[in-house]
Amino acid sequence: MPNLSNIGVIREVLARHGFTFSKALGQNFLINPSVCPRMAEAAHAAPGYGILEIGAGIGVLTAELAARAERVVCVEIDGRLLPVLEETLSDFDNVEIVNGDVLKVDLHALIRERFAGLQVAVAANLPYYITSPIVMKLLEERLPIESITVMVQKEAATRLCAAPGERACGAVSLAVQYYSSPEILFPVSRGSFLPAPNVDSCVIRLTLRREAPIALENEAFFFSVVRAAFSQRRKTILNTLSSGLKIPKGELGPLLEECRVSPSARAEALTLEQFGALANALYAYRH
Ligand code: SAM
Repeated sequence: MPNLSNIGVIREVLARHGFTFSKALGQNFLINPSVCPRMAEAAHAAPGYGILEIGAGIGVLTAELAARAERVVCVEIDGRLLPVLEETLSDFDNVEIVNGDVLKVDLHALIRERFAGLQVAVAANLPYYITSPIVMKLLEERLPIESITVMVQKEAATRLCAAPGERACGAVSLAVQYYSSPEILFPVSRGSFLPAPNVDSCVIRLTLRREAPIALENEAFFFSVVRAAFSQRRKTILNTLSSGLKIPKGELGPLLEECRVSPSARAEALTLEQFGALANALYAYRH
């Protein structure tokens, strides 16, 4: 098996297969040998674990995961990489590459069929153009997975892992908090990739919650309240919810106060519990 941590080897393999990078597919491959072992460890890749990877590239992280875990299945959209991966992963009999778009693949079926009897975790250096859609799909589909360890752009890491009350907190941070406990693990510089992107990255881990952190009357309604609250960040919660949910201010104001939410607060200042209480009160008001 070629040494995938060696930039000369990577260039030679790619050139031999006539491979050219696709910017549209977010193809920035890892060339820093210290990153993949740390990611594999953070993802708990070990015997008894099935690891779902997204985007194999030339297989540098895939190989590290396969050396540690029971089984690795990687969904890779770019069919041109299949012959490359056949060569670079030829030493492993516990790896399968599924050629497809992760946003369209039935991940419940994949996990059921490929990882029966195993603990499942996700590990990936995500294609940056669809970071949030992938993370939201992994969370919202309530897959039977333990954790999601992914490399994302630094700014996306801050946004995804922001706690309520932090400036970067938005609707997506609240969703991440609802489904998981997020952590920023370590930074990775732009020079660790081929080609080098314009920004630095971070590895984050989302450990999925076994139980919901708040009791909700209706989960979909809760998320529509969160989206409405963050739709105009500079406005007060009274204004954004009144216009977003079409509730007269005169009726919304007392409801907010009943939930101990100041009508002049901004959405980013509310805790998950306050959003939950508010969504439940608004749901009761509506029904
Ligand atoms: N894991 C490799 C590494 O660390 O070097 C490659 C990471 S690269 C940032 C992202 C990979 O995701 C590319 O191989 C790209 O072709 C693949 N990809 C892009 N969009 C995808 C999608 N919708 N579904 C599956 N794979 C995708």
